[in-house]
Amino acid sequence: MSGPVNLARAAAVDGWLARLGRGLWAPRCLVCGEQAAGRIDLCARCEAALPWMPAACLACAMPLRPPAAGAGRLCSACQRAPPPLAETHAAFLYGFPVDRLLPRLKFHRDLAAGRLLAEAMAVAFAARPRPDALVPVPLHRARLRQRGYNQALELARPLGRRLGIGVRPELLRRTRDTDPQSRLDAAARAANLDEAFEVRGTGAAPPHVVLVDDVMTTGATLHAAADALLDAGAWRVDAWVCARAP
Ligand SMILES: [Zn+2]
Ligand SMILES: [Zn+2]
Repeated sequence: MSGPVNLARAAAVDGWLARLGRGLWAPRCLVCGEQAAGRIDLCARCEAALPWMPAACLACAMPLRPPAAGAGRLCSACQRAPPPLAETHAAFLYGFPVDRLLPRLKFHRDLAAGRLLAEAMAVAFAARPRPDALVPVPLHRARLRQRGYNQALELARPLGRRLGIGVRPELLRRTRDTDPQSRLDAAARAANLDEAFEVRGTGAAPPHVVLVDDVMTTGATLHAAADALLDAGAWRVDAWVCARAP
């Protein structure tokens, strides 16, 4: 993305968040509690701090150094070993205030935070080629039962509505309840995720699928999900994530 995006201005044009902001109560910043700027649920200071993604590798969404290398380029790691994802796009770097909003969505089902982040993703990805379907990265059913909802679906639903793309949460199933990823190194993580996903149903996967997730760290989970979709007949799989962690 070239330069910071003015989320408030994009929202004002659209009117979606404007309607939201005209609630019965004065809107408060979801991050710090200050009075919101008016059109979105962030104060001017927190909105200005949003860590919009700088020019990044097209395949893994890691910021390119130097940024002058420009968008649309691959980092050296992806040139050496192209990942199964054709393109990966992140709306934000994982930093303040996104690092406050995402955990509230993930662990406390804060839907106001989810709507705000999905709106930001819609702004960031509006110019991308439209896929046939958005597929949220699924949780294993044991994890889903424990948490009660899938945060990736909470982002994918409003995002699909905003961009006019169908959301297919039933398409992909997580067949293995993988260990918490943070305790494993990269190789162990990849082995752990091998065959962790399967495409459901008898028909082939849609030709162009975009996986949606909240945070991308190593990419191992997204790569495993993309492999399953490619095996099932998809010819292109991209990923759109809210935030990229290094
Ligand atoms: Zn604030
Ligand atoms: Zn890369």
